[in-house]
Amino acid sequence: MLWQVAVARWEGRHDGAVSAAAHGEGTPDMRTDTDHPADSEHGGLSRRTVLLGLSGGLALAGTGLGPALSASAATLLNGRWCSPARGRLSSAYGWRTLNGVRAWHAGWDVANPVGTAVYAAAAGTVVRRGWNVVGGRTGNGIVVSHGSGVYTYYGHLNAFRVGNGASVSAGQRIADMGATGNVTGPHLHFEVQIGGIGKDVNPRTHLTNRGAVLGGGWPTLDPEARGQRVKAMQFLLRQRGRSITVDGYHGSQSTATLKAWQRAVKLVGDGQAGPKTWPVLDYVLRQGHGGDHVRALQTLLNKHSAGLLVDGDFGGVTNTAVKSFQGLNNLVKDGEAGPITWQAALS
Ligand SMILES: [Zn+2]
Repeated sequence: MLWQVAVARWEGRHDGAVSAAAHGEGTPDMRTDTDHPADSEHGGLSRRTVLLGLSGGLALAGTGLGPALSASAATLLNGRWCSPARGRLSSAYGWRTLNGVRAWHAGWDVANPVGTAVYAAAAGTVVRRGWNVVGGRTGNGIVVSHGSGVYTYYGHLNAFRVGNGASVSAGQRIADMGATGNVTGPHLHFEVQIGGIGKDVNPRTHLTNRGAVLGGGWPTLDPEARGQRVKAMQFLLRQRGRSITVDGYHGSQSTATLKAWQRAVKLVGDGQAGPKTWPVLDYVLRQGHGGDHVRALQTLLNKHSAGLLVDGDFGGVTNTAVKSFQGLNNLVKDGEAGPITWQAALS
């Protein structure tokens, strides 16, 4: 409860006034609304680590509301959240006027062709799946419950990739982007709802505050972050010759190692893996490469349901997985993991 209030304050919401309106979608505009699951090994591990991160967050918020959160807002960048899809931001959250009608837009729209992968933005359970599953939202939709009254909604989907009741991990593919319902073009309508289904907050702000960039971009992981992206960072540091345990936890040792490497390459040594750090830390990889940098890539592809063996061998299987991942995200399917592919895999 405290946590919800704290989050609402952090989002800059006014005590539910906006969410209570919970309007549906308006009339059409351009590219907007008018209104294989992860293999058991990796999915299970991912869920456990993410849940650990969640309990840490709850404990923090419980210690003292505003001050605790504002003083340590950076700890929100805990690796739990990721972008639900790659694409162009085509319509913003908030009031908008379409065809002369002023209406509340309860989410952000991310546009890309039909079939583009849609990922769970955080770990949780699919609680609704089907046609018009939330009042005012049209077409095929999915609602994922993340606990503590936090939900995400994915709308206008073309196909479902998980069943109702399924447990999903952050970054797991759950659906295909589509144009079902009242739309003028294919896109994902994405919402974050806090305090109950339909109680929308600004989903882009919500993601930004948690180190994820809606639609793409480099994520940001702070000290104390956990998960597959942390593992990838640790593998990359190992490839860069640093001695580090790859455990998916960016604790004091991991942070110290990153800081030392950052200073060595003339970056700000803040122990934060963000937009300045990732492009320097990554490698351009293609078939034939082998090592911990390949393990980093394989780990990230698995976060997006690739189901690869993390063996550090960029062979034919990994090559196929990279191309498949690139296709699902509407990137050039060349099998080469350059900055754009890393960015997508990290989001
Ligand atoms: Zn929308």
